[in-house]
Amino acid sequence: MSLTKLARARVQQLTPYQSARRIGGQGHIWLNANEAADSGQFNLDCARLNRYPECQPPQVIERYAAYAGVDAERVLVSRGGDEGIELLIRTFCEPGTDSVLICPPTYGMYAISAETNGVNVVEVPLTDSRQPDFDAIIERLEEVKIVFLCSPNNPTGDLVDRDGLVRLLNAAKGRALVVVDEAYIEFCPEHSQVDLLTDFDELVIIRTLSKAFGLAGIRCGFTLASPEVIGLLLKVIAPYPVAEPVAQIAAQALSDQGLVLMRSRVDEINRLKTELAEELSQHAQVQDVYAPNGNYLLVRFTPGSEMFARMSRAGIILRDFASKPGLADCIRITIGSRAEMDAVLDVLQKEQ
Ligand SMILES: *Cc1c(COP(=O)(O)O)cnc(C)c1O
Repeated sequence: MSLTKLARARVQQLTPYQSARRIGGQGHIWLNANEAADSGQFNLDCARLNRYPECQPPQVIERYAAYAGVDAERVLVSRGGDEGIELLIRTFCEPGTDSVLICPPTYGMYAISAETNGVNVVEVPLTDSRQPDFDAIIERLEEVKIVFLCSPNNPTGDLVDRDGLVRLLNAAKGRALVVVDEAYIEFCPEHSQVDLLTDFDELVIIRTLSKAFGLAGIRCGFTLASPEVIGLLLKVIAPYPVAEPVAQIAAQALSDQGLVLMRSRVDEINRLKTELAEELSQHAQVQDVYAPNGNYLLVRFTPGSEMFARMSRAGIILRDFASKPGLADCIRITIGSRAEMDAVLDVLQKEQ
């Protein structure tokens, strides 16, 4: 007898998140998961691996708080930003009755985490100018516990309008959480909404070491929120969410030296991104280059499928968004090393 029938009905029906690693593909140039092209060097002290790690390693919390410019009591560290998203849903949403609100096209994990936990998803699509539809969101606030916004938005790259966000936060007072996912904020730090945390207890910010810090492999992310919200999340989080080697590497990545390395990586990626955007926009098969605020460019080709196949034949793995609403012919290109960007341009310019 198949054991699938024993699983929860909801799980049987679930389509798992199509992560870049799961989709994979044949190729040697990986530009499909917004990873960095390098990670840096770290030292590991294995003397204490016989002991369980701290739930919230103090040095990691203190250093992230200092880096983000918030009090340590507003910081939670978890197994990637994804675990922060999941914890928020598990802490605030009653399965079967509560809902979260998302603004597609956006990051896929908000809906996947909600569905896995039996929580409904209300969709309020981005406007034609690719902003959250703040009026429409405010109208539906009674129905939802959490609003997920993403800034820069993955995959479109757009930043959430600050006046709209403040309007939403005022409307959400005491009624719903407003999450701003800043996974890519290091590429445009002047646009962080982190300073609003002290004015609005409903605001939650998601961060990660997976992108600008070049550490997707260690699974380490942060949730920034009011001390009250952090306290609630700590009731739900696993007892040892952050492995000891992860805590050691994260602390080093957040040291003064680590931050210098991160910022120089960001400068280089932003430089390569500007160059690539200019080259792309002059190309006959490129219709649109979307907002360049993250470590990626969403590009509309004519046609997208042909360009995706061409890149793939050259061993370059990109991420196809053609099936997403409003993103026909759109492909997301992660900004990798200079050599990788040259390879992309080569394919573009050669076989036209
Ligand atoms: C990558 C990403 C995250 C979190 O990634 P983790 O690797 O789980 O830290 C969160 N939000 C967005 C929009 C992302 O692109």
